[in-house]
This record gives sequence, structure tokens and C-alpha cells, in this order.
Amino acid sequence: MKAIIATWSFGLKAVEAGWRILRNGGSALDAVEASIREIENDFSNRSVGLGGYPNIAGFVELDAAIMEGSTLRAGSVAAVRNVQNPISLARKVMEKTPHVMIVGEGATKLAKIFGLYVEKVDLQPEARMEWERRLKTAVSTPQKEGTIEFWLKMAAEGHYNHDTIGCVAMDDNKNIVAGCSTSGYAFKLVGRVGDSPIIGSGLYANSFGGAAATGLGENIMIHNVSRMVVGFMEQGIPADEAAEKTVQHLLKIGRRIDRISFVSLDKDGCFGAGTTEKSFQFAAMSDAFSEPRLLMVEKGVRLSL
Ligand code: ASP
Repeated sequence: MKAIIATWSFGLKAVEAGWRILRNGGSALDAVEASIREIENDFSNRSVGLGGYPNIAGFVELDAAIMEGSTLRAGSVAAVRNVQNPISLARKVMEKTPHVMIVGEGATKLAKIFGLYVEKVDLQPEARMEWERRLKTAVSTPQKEGTIEFWLKMAAEGHYNHDTIGCVAMDDNKNIVAGCSTSGYAFKLVGRVGDSPIIGSGLYANSFGGAAATGLGENIMIHNVSRMVVGFMEQGIPADEAAEKTVQHLLKIGRRIDRISFVSLDKDGCFGAGTTEKSFQFAAMSDAFSEPRLLMVEKGVRLSL
């Protein structure tokens, strides 16, 4: 049973790219990497890849991670600059190093070693304009550059720009892989890292299932959302019910739960998705569907396919 699921409406393009690989007998690992690269390579996207909004200093810093359920291997990079495909760099960390997570300058060095480094990165015109507009507004206030107040002014509402590409796939060998990639919180502080590269928060996979999250990283990482979803699946609960239970559990906790959404997939090829928002869009494809579908789940409601 092959299956693939990805976050947001742009997940449709990701699912199509991943499905081409799964359909031809490729691995879930290749499918997840290809799906995510598809979105990273779209420079019109302001929340994934080098087309994303920059941090407060005007640099795009990217977070990405990948995890293989059958082996429990994982690789992750955080706050990395000058890399077009951080998901591929995360895979290199997993496959070519003894480590799980490499950040900042070290990640950039690895990118050079693996030929994933991009020498010259220009902000996309719209991203630059917005960054300059914020800089101008912040400078014209009494807050001094370099103070936390100045940053708060710069980043105001920046957290509303969110949309990680998160993807979970299963191949014919029942290997489940989860991955995600994002430019994160728009106009964030230099070095801010979200949930996406954190194993258990932004993504998780084992032989029972996988999950990938999106939304406000500062909340997702508090609850280890992806690990929570997979934890339910470990108890034999299917992905859709596991998603519903996760949302119910978050609602019960009731704190730091806004803007949390996720997709999930279990070892039997059942899909799930959950959100603490009003609704959440995602895309999916499996042997059971005739073509990739764009779907939606509502807050606290079990996905019914
Ligand atoms: N979760 C990501 C972060 O906080 C952003 C997102 O999903 O939109 O970095």
C-alpha cells in the first residue's frame, strides 16, 4: 500500500511529485525528499525555501528535517543560509554523518561539502519590499535598533506568515518517512529555530506511522505534537482517530495551542489530519485514490475520507 500526504494547498504539488516516485516503485525516502524539494524550488512561496521572508537582518534562514520510520534514522538542519534545498541537506546529515541535527554555520559548511551551497542569494522582490517596509516603520519609531522593542516592531504579525511543507509517505515495503521544510516565522530574530527541524515536534516517524506539523512553531514544540500523534498510533489507533485524539488532548490542555495543524499516516495507509484552527487544508494520494486530492479538516473533527 503506497500513500503520501502533505500540508496546505501547495501540498498538492508536493504530493504529485512524491507520487510519481512511489508509483514507479521508488522509496518513501526519495518521495518525501522530492515532494519537499518541489515546494522549496518554488520561489513564489514566502514560507518555504529561499523565496521565503527573511529574518530581521534580511537573511533567509531555513529549517528542515527528515525521519525514516523503519530505521529511526533522522537528519535535520536549522537556521541554515544559502541552501536551496535544506531537505536534501537534512538527508545528508542523516545518511552521511553520525549526527541528527546540525545548525547555522556548521550546516552551511556541510552544504558546501555536499554541493548544496548557493553562493548568491537575492531576496525575492516582494519579500525585500516587505522587509524594507518593516525596517522603515521600525526605524521611524522611538525604539532603538538592536533593542528587543525594535525587533518586536519589526516582527509584528510575522508569525501569521506560516506554512511549512510537511510530508509523510509510505512505500510498498511499508517504510514510513516524514519530512518538513520552512523559512519559519517571518522577520524572526537571527537564529530563531521553529518546530520543523525538531524531531518529535515538527515531524516523527516509526514503523507504526508518521506525522508532520505546521503552524506556530513556538506552540508546536511545547507539545511535541508529531510525537504525540504517532504515540496514539503506537497504541493501534488509526491515523484519523490519532489526529482527532491529539487535537482533543491539546484542547484539554488549553494553553499554547493556537495555530497547530498536522498531517498523519499510519502503517495501514490510513490518513489523518488535525488542527486547532477553524480548518486546515492538505493534500493526499494513495493506491485507494484515482488522483491526488486536496482535502480539508475542521477543528476537533475526525477526518472522513
Ligand atoms: N512551524 C513553522 C515554524 O514555526 C512555520 C510554519 O509551519 O508555518 O517555523
